[in-house]
Amino acid sequence: MTYDTNNVFAKILRGEIPCQEVYRDEHALAFHDINPKSKIHALVIPTGPYVSSEDFHERASSEEIVGYYRALDKVLETLNLKGKDQEGYRLLSNRGPRAGQEVFHFHTHIFGGEPLGPMLAI
Ligand code: AMP
Repeated sequence: MTYDTNNVFAKILRGEIPCQEVYRDEHALAFHDINPKSKIHALVIPTGPYVSSEDFHERASSEEIVGYYRALDKVLETLNLKGKDQEGYRLLSNRGPRAGQEVFHFHTHIFGGEPLGPMLAI
């Protein structure tokens, strides 16, 4: 799949659509999900044009990949989710329509702030 420069997250990155920003640096942008599925629900996206986790891990440079995951860790800190062993949080990335991916710009969901229940609703 080729990257669609008009996907909603590309528009957020360009500032054409507003977001509730949590964190930003040269490698990543994080913002609150518009339709939260838990008390805390944020999304972390790379600043580069990657369709999915697979695309990101295959095509991004080592610097981009390390930068992205370091940023994700900073987002967890900013959201006050880190270091609470008894509470925890969930990281999730849907890859492809069958997994539920709706926006085709790679992103990691961060869920937290309350008990999250089973991993999959089946
Ligand atoms: P996925 O189904 O994994 O592709 O997740 C896409 C997520 O993007 C969903 O949880 C949506 O609620 C969220 N989303 C879509 N549009 C926006 C937006 N404009 N701002 C923030 N989150 C959004």
